Amino acid sequence: MDTRSHISLDPDDWSETRALAHRIVDDAIAGLGGLRDRPVWQPMPDTVRETFRSPVPLQPTPLADIYDDLGATILRYPMGNTHPRFFAWYMGGSNFTGALGDFLAAIEGSNLGGGDTAAAAADGQVVDWLRQMMGFPDAAGGTLTSGGSMANMVGLTVARNAMAGVDVRADGITDLPQPLRFYASDQVHSAHQKAVEALGLGHKALRQVPTDAAFRMDVNALAAMIAEDRAAGRRPACVIATAGTTSTGSIDDLPAVAALCRREGLWLHIDGCIGAFLRIAPENRQLVEGIDLADSLALDPHKWLQTPFECGCALVRDRRQLFETFNLHGDYLQVQARGIAAAEFLGDYGFELSRSFKALKLWMSLREHGVERFGALVDQHIGMARAMAERIAAEPRLELMAPVAINIVCFRYRGAVGSEAELRALNTEIMLRIQESGVAMPTDTTLHGRHSLRAAINNHRTRPEDLDLLLDEVLRHGMALQGC
Ligand SMILES: *Cc1c(COP(=O)(O)O)cnc(C)c1O
Repeated sequence: MDTRSHISLDPDDWSETRALAHRIVDDAIAGLGGLRDRPVWQPMPDTVRETFRSPVPLQPTPLADIYDDLGATILRYPMGNTHPRFFAWYMGGSNFTGALGDFLAAIEGSNLGGGDTAAAAADGQVVDWLRQMMGFPDAAGGTLTSGGSMANMVGLTVARNAMAGVDVRADGITDLPQPLRFYASDQVHSAHQKAVEALGLGHKALRQVPTDAAFRMDVNALAAMIAEDRAAGRRPACVIATAGTTSTGSIDDLPAVAALCRREGLWLHIDGCIGAFLRIAPENRQLVEGIDLADSLALDPHKWLQTPFECGCALVRDRRQLFETFNLHGDYLQVQARGIAAAEFLGDYGFELSRSFKALKLWMSLREHGVERFGALVDQHIGMARAMAERIAAEPRLELMAPVAINIVCFRYRGAVGSEAELRALNTEIMLRIQESGVAMPTDTTLHGRHSLRAAINNHRTRPEDLDLLLDEVLRHGMALQGC
């Protein structure tokens, strides 16, 4: 008899694994229940950081021991974006149903790049639900992506290929008869610079249009830049409008930009990573009127829909243009009339071939809650942001730094000192003290040269008292630092 045992990664005896898995689920639920009482974030001690320098494990470790290690290290020092007082950058709060979806997707195990599977059909359904939520026509297509950066990259790639005037897939950008020009406001997300650089256009091809006092693109300045580029022999190709900028949440005048694009024959890409889901919010949907006029649209379910990371989506008004940009089949991946390859390949609609079943977490939570509840959540966040702005306006020691367009509030402590540099130093210190205290998590930004604290209210667990506590802490630290 062969003395070597057969190797498989499944346990010989499932009973221990089953008990541990049940314990993990129980701990996860208990952890979510106790979230509010924990610090939002804590700096990781060096002893914990040291554990991530251990060498590659050659010998087995019991799973229960590994799980014990997690409790003291990885699970103990998270970002904190699931916490109700996390207001940093622009995240989502995740949700338990989504976590179950990710688990079940891994158990189901399919690769969604191609093949006739129910999982791929569900992925297509989620993309179609998002299309309907955005009011895009039946002929539109789309793809789930890792996030908003990739969703914008997909949209801008289709835009480049459609507007190039040559067959970019065959000839490349070196054969462009005229240099292409893209336009976006000075508030545009950095993902777009990365995208135009990766597309070989160079970031000088992305012209920054100035914004008004409400941080919205100046459409007259945009029109002037387009005319100037045409006169100089360049080819205006695409306007990137933002529905919800990252610093302030401002929304470009979408109908006006869309009209200009139509007049000028330009592609309209809308970055809706933050604001696209305003369209499902009954009280605020008018803010993104015109979003359905985009030729391509990027959205980010892992932000306002609270989907666990990662989940972004690109929609393209004409599905064929998306397909023509990305479809490609090796000899080993031919579509058949029957059998497992008798289906549309999702890999034909984006950069990636192997794809996770990330659709499931969204598919499950959209069904569980219904779109109306997500829309009400969007309205709830905006209501809290407006209430916070009112308190700031009524408090002489605080200053509102930008109009509150949606769920982002920019403000600062107004000290006795006056200069911009002093206010920046003071507010940065207030921010860092609050971050390190674990009480709340604000971050900052610079708005037309002025430093600002910033709270993005985008967690389904946040309540009005959480925002009051943040402002109380800003005032307390501000007064302490000023010695009053
Ligand atoms: C977050 C964000 C992005 C990038 O999305 P990721 O999901 O972080 O890759 C792009 N544009 C805007 C406006 C964003 O807020």
